[in-house]
Amino acid sequence: MKTALGSSRRFLLGSSRDAAEQIAAGIQDFVGLGRPFLADPSWPEKTELGREDEIVSCINCLHCFETLLQNAWLAKPIECSRNSLLGKETD
Ligand code: SF4
Repeated sequence: MKTALGSSRRFLLGSSRDAAEQIAAGIQDFVGLGRPFLADPSWPEKTELGREDEIVSCINCLHCFETLLQNAWLAKPIECSRNSLLGKETD
C-alpha cells in the first residue's frame, strides 16, 4: 500500500534522483515541491532531462518565510536567498 501523502522534506536538499526513482518504482505517484521549487523553478525540467547537477538546492534557511511575513505588510514580494529572481517575475 502506498503512502497517501508524505513529507517532501526529504527532497529539500535537491535529491531529485530519489524522487524520480520513487515515482518510477511506483512507491509514490507524485512528488510535491514547496521550497525546492522556490529555489529553482526549473527543478522538474532539470530532473526530467537528467541535469540534476544543475539544480539550485533549497538550503532550508527560511528566508522565504521571513520575507513572506515581513513583506506582506509592505506589499513587497517573497524572497529566496538562493533565487534572486523570485518575486520579480513581472519586473
Ligand atoms: S529562502 Fe531559503 S528556505 Fe526558502 S526556498 Fe530559498 S533557500 Fe529554501
